[in-house]
Amino acid sequence: MSLLSLLTNLGAWINAHALWPDLPVWSYALLAFLDTHITTASVTLYLHRAQTHRSISFHPLVEHFMRFWLWVRTAMPTKEWVAVHRCHHAHVDTPEDPHSPIVYGIWRVVFMGTSLYHHAAHNAAVLEQYGKGTPDDALERRVYAPLSLLGPTLTLVTNALVFGTWGLAMWLVEMAWIPFFAAGVINGLGHWWGYRNFDTPDHSKNLPGRYWSILTCGEALHNNHHHVQNSPRFATRSGELDPGYWYFRALQMVGLASERQEGRATA
Ligand SMILES: [Zn+2]
Ligand SMILES: [Zn+2]
Repeated sequence: MSLLSLLTNLGAWINAHALWPDLPVWSYALLAFLDTHITTASVTLYLHRAQTHRSISFHPLVEHFMRFWLWVRTAMPTKEWVAVHRCHHAHVDTPEDPHSPIVYGIWRVVFMGTSLYHHAAHNAAVLEQYGKGTPDDALERRVYAPLSLLGPTLTLVTNALVFGTWGLAMWLVEMAWIPFFAAGVINGLGHWWGYRNFDTPDHSKNLPGRYWSILTCGEALHNNHHHVQNSPRFATRSGELDPGYWYFRALQMVGLASERQEGRATA
């Protein structure tokens, strides 16, 4: 049996056992977009604004949902993400910055940003110095951190069980989303291309065009963020969009989120 016929038979077997293998193609695309949008919202709200900069906090149920979602969609332990990002702020656009396009070049950060991230995330000194205050409970120690790759594996299996072979295509998009848009676009283009509202002591930029802000839940307003790092809100001018802040406000209105500090420290 050739490899092609083996894969064809495997695909047919997966579709025969899946729950919804025959939806219109556009519905798989829409579901994949909504899925990656939840992942992006979890990165900016939980990892970035709540854990790294401590500007907001969430009800434990919301926080645990985002922790779980990030485990199954990105395999990124909280401590590693927080440590690498705090290290970026502490050494922004210098040789100690883990992923500055000024140091490494724009194309290396956009397309190889994940390897730069992992290099810093596996540096014990970076984790020790910048990873303080992140979750250290049994779930983190026994599951999320040591079994990080189990999360995306669970997503692969559940996608196949629910959507059949389309679920496998959705999985590829879901797995590539954060490495490209966070490690590549924000870390790379966010310090290389766009406009500046504030004269910060770095090369941070706001990406022009509202679609960037929609796709990144407000993270595209990177110069605004470097200006006031612990603000829960990234938009500062009329016309700038920060969906991450809208979601935070919606959760705040129903008592599931709160602002942690009123004072604003500038970069
Ligand atoms: Zn930055
Ligand atoms: Zn930040």
